[in-house]
Amino acid sequence: MRTPTILLATNNKDKIVELQDLLKDLNAQLLTPRDINLELDVIEDGLTYAENASKKAIAFAQASNLICLADDSGLEVDALNGEPGLYSARYGSSDGNKLSAPERRKYLLSKLQIHPRPWTARFKATIAIAHTNYQLQITEGICEGEIIPEERGAGGFGYDPIFLFPELGKTMAELGTDEKNRLSHRARAVTKSKEILKSLFEV
Ligand code: IMP
Repeated sequence: MRTPTILLATNNKDKIVELQDLLKDLNAQLLTPRDINLELDVIEDGLTYAENASKKAIAFAQASNLICLADDSGLEVDALNGEPGLYSARYGSSDGNKLSAPERRKYLLSKLQIHPRPWTARFKATIAIAHTNYQLQITEGICEGEIIPEERGAGGFGYDPIFLFPELGKTMAELGTDEKNRLSHRARAVTKSKEILKSLFEV
């Protein structure tokens, strides 16, 4: 059988690294948009993670004619009624002023100051797989935890240094790559999506 190919439909380098590791046992060729000189910036204006992930997967599938896997994810904090949620990547940003990840963490913590702890929260990830006929399949993963006021750990990306797994006593950024890729929202969603991918390869 020919080695199947999957395009990782994202320009986010941190997600690409995680997805490559999470999908490595599939025996598929994993391509990035850069590998095929594809420059595509999809506007994430959906009202749900699934809508945004689907939009990305379809846009990349139309542009490449490959099976595409897209991720849309976010952090939801209970005390902030689910913020930053869909806006996690641009939280606190305004036109012409995009906050960096450390600035977004600071902004989130500043909003939480008036609320009592624990600041319970969850990461959510939705994976959309677009087939070459543009049929879509969606999987989801959730990871429960708590936001803490001080940064801990050097791994991961985004909100990882302030997202604590209470039962482990470690933040997402204090986990090794293998551990994060066993426990994370993205890992949970990708694990489910692997079954879909395997069945696609058998066709
Ligand atoms: P989007 O899916 O491109 O809209 O971006 C999701 C945003 O959510 C990222 O830019 C991060 O700020 C945050 N996020 C998603 N997954 C993770 C994660 O695994 N760790 C930390 N932050 C994450």
